[in-house]
Amino acid sequence: MAWVSWSTMTKHASEGLGFRDVQCYNDVFLAKLSWRVINHPQSLMCRILLGKYCSTESFLKVENRTNESHGWRGVLIGRDLIRANTGWTVRDGKSIEVWNEAWLDNTNQLRPTGPAPEHLTQLKVSELIDPNSQDWDREKIQSIIPLYEELVLRIKLSKTGAVDKLSWLKTKSGDYTTKSGYWTAYEMTRRDEEQHHQTDFDWNKGVWKLNVAPKIKLFLWKTFQGALPVGERLISRNIVGDTKCTRCGLTESIHHLLFQCEFAQRVWALAPTNPTVEGSGLIDFPVNWTNLMGLTCLPPIGLSSDVLIPWLLSLWISHNNLLFNKKTASPEDIISRAVASVREWLNAQEPAELSPRSRPIVERPIENCHRLQSDAAWREDYGIAGLGWTIKKNTERASFGSHCHFVASPMVAEALALREAIFKCKELEIQRLKTDSIHLVKAITSKKPPPDIYCIVFDSISLISEFELIQFKWIPRE
Ligand SMILES: [Zn+2]
Repeated sequence: MAWVSWSTMTKHASEGLGFRDVQCYNDVFLAKLSWRVINHPQSLMCRILLGKYCSTESFLKVENRTNESHGWRGVLIGRDLIRANTGWTVRDGKSIEVWNEAWLDNTNQLRPTGPAPEHLTQLKVSELIDPNSQDWDREKIQSIIPLYEELVLRIKLSKTGAVDKLSWLKTKSGDYTTKSGYWTAYEMTRRDEEQHHQTDFDWNKGVWKLNVAPKIKLFLWKTFQGALPVGERLISRNIVGDTKCTRCGLTESIHHLLFQCEFAQRVWALAPTNPTVEGSGLIDFPVNWTNLMGLTCLPPIGLSSDVLIPWLLSLWISHNNLLFNKKTASPEDIISRAVASVREWLNAQEPAELSPRSRPIVERPIENCHRLQSDAAWREDYGIAGLGWTIKKNTERASFGSHCHFVASPMVAEALALREAIFKCKELEIQRLKTDSIHLVKAITSKKPPPDIYCIVFDSISLISEFELIQFKWIPRE
């Protein structure tokens, strides 16, 4: 748990780091904590916090009171960032109030605009669902929120009992990430201030598209944003004020750590680049970055500089805080560790780059097994999907089809076709199944399907868990 105090923010601001950057960085960590409170309320820390501060109201609704602790007020700042950028993914509708919460869209906070009829102000979304068919009650929707009928019908419900989930609207998966949290906080603050922070730095080329691990990209991004947690550890341990460089005793700043410190210059001097980097000559990090990325790495390292240098920076900065981390590392250690880490990471990437289809499939014949193939066609203009599936065994072959209205995308259509197909197999009491559904394979391996197909995939997974055997493989289309 780490939050940056007011005194650090002003200190960073006076050192030339953007106040706004540090503030966003702070909010993002508080939001991460709040996300944990929402998603893991049973953890010990969450139970303590919720028991103390949310005994009468839910975490999402509780108001900020001035007499509460500084720490808790910080958590609520993060909660507000979450609250302003989340919406419900409807699964059974029991946790969602029709008029008071956003639930109609996966990318924007959208709720029906009132006024709500007086006796229906607390209406739950579950009350718009027909308990028998477990599908939307169109008559009710037409009488209560007729303008939103189409949007509501596009939400595909679970038929096997998934529960509602709060989704972060800024990522495809619906999960909060520090990266998207940062950008959202940054954008919100920027808009609030109506003051544009222009930069010519190419973020894609300089950071996001580098072939390095995500954690290294995040480190670079924080560095460029001036949000490197230089004083953070000090603050979280209540040691405020003294932020001298632990290696040389001069005033610690990001620029000092990266270029000016005597230690940094020793690392640069040893780095296997051509020409050798002269640390003391580097004044502006973003401007120098492009040049650093273009350097040649000397043999026998066999790595390119745009992979090695980011790793190197991150390693020595993370080893910098000698006050708390008594382990000291020499420039030589850091360089050899960086080379080892890069190699390890690159090796780990290779198997992932092989497409599953390019690998030979080892086929083990399975007795008494049906083959299932499903497919869907989608018409954007009518929002209608045609669903088809074929079940085959030896020479027997049965084809089925249906259609579905209010389908938002081809992905939803394909997921629906698969769910229908699996329902059918269940109905036919098929026990052993082979399928080639890329959707299903992806959904099962990632465990995080996008919010708009979550319910459908959830149902498919619950259903297939009842089969005696299911095998995924690519079946050539005939
Ligand atoms: Zn120093």
